[in-house]
Amino acid sequence: MQIFVDTHSHTIASTHAYSTLGEYVAEAKRKGMQMFSLTEHGPDMPDSPHPWHFGNRKVIPRIIDGIAILKGIEANIREPSGGLDIPEGMLSYLDFAIASFHEPVFTPGSKKEHTRAIINSMKTGHCQILGHLGNPNYPFHHDEVIKAAKDLNVLVEINNSSLTHSRAGSEKNCKAIMECIDKHDWKVVFSSDAHIAHHLGEFTESIEIAKQIGFPESRIVNQNAERFLRFLGEHGKSVAVELADWSASHT
Ligand SMILES: [Zn+2]
Ligand SMILES: [Zn+2]
Repeated sequence: MQIFVDTHSHTIASTHAYSTLGEYVAEAKRKGMQMFSLTEHGPDMPDSPHPWHFGNRKVIPRIIDGIAILKGIEANIREPSGGLDIPEGMLSYLDFAIASFHEPVFTPGSKKEHTRAIINSMKTGHCQILGHLGNPNYPFHHDEVIKAAKDLNVLVEINNSSLTHSRAGSEKNCKAIMECIDKHDWKVVFSSDAHIAHHLGEFTESIEIAKQIGFPESRIVNQNAERFLRFLGEHGKSVAVELADWSASHT
C-alpha cells in the first residue's frame, strides 16, 4: 500500500524541528509522493511560530517541483471546555487544522474531561483532523468520540511517530482506536508527524496495523491527493478548487 499524501509535518519554523520546506519537497519527490502539509504548532505551544508565519505562507507556491503544498496548523485542544488556539483572523489562511492534546497546554485529566474537550473542539467547526489520539496520557471514550467525528465529518489521525519514537505506549491505543473507527465505518488519515525531512511519508507501522485488523484502504483519506482534496472541499476549503485540475491529472 502506498500513501501519497502526508498530512502532518513540522519545519524549522518550529524550533524543535530540523528541516526546511525545500528539504521536505525534495524528500517528497524522492519518495514519489503527491502532496504534503505544513502543520506547525498553534500559538499556545512554547515553540509555535509567530502568528505572522501562518498568514504569510501565501508566498509559498501551491506546487513546487511537482509537489503540492498544503498550509495547515496543528492546533491545541484547550482545557477545560475544549476549543482551539486558532485566532479568528488566522482561520482564512488555513487549508485545514489538526486538533491535538499537548501536555504543555492541556494538563491531563479524566477520561470524561478528555472526551468532552475533544468533542467540543470538533463542534467549533474549525478542525478537520484529530491528532495523535493514541497518547496514553489522554484516554477518552472511543465510541463517543468516533461517533461524533463521523457526525461532524472530522477524520482521525493515526500518527506514525506515536508508533516509533513519540508518546510511548500509544501502540495498543492506536490499534483499539482504529478498530473502533472500523466498527463505526469511519475514516482515518495516516501521518508521519515528521520533524525532519527523512521521516516524511513514513507510515510503515500504521500500515501494519491496518493490515492486522483488515482496515480498508478506501477509508484512508490521504491515500491520494484527489481523495484528501475532496474531503477538504466538503469543509468548504478553497484549496480543493485551487488544486482540482492538478489533482485530476495526478491521481
Ligand atoms: Zn502533536
Ligand atoms: Zn506534530
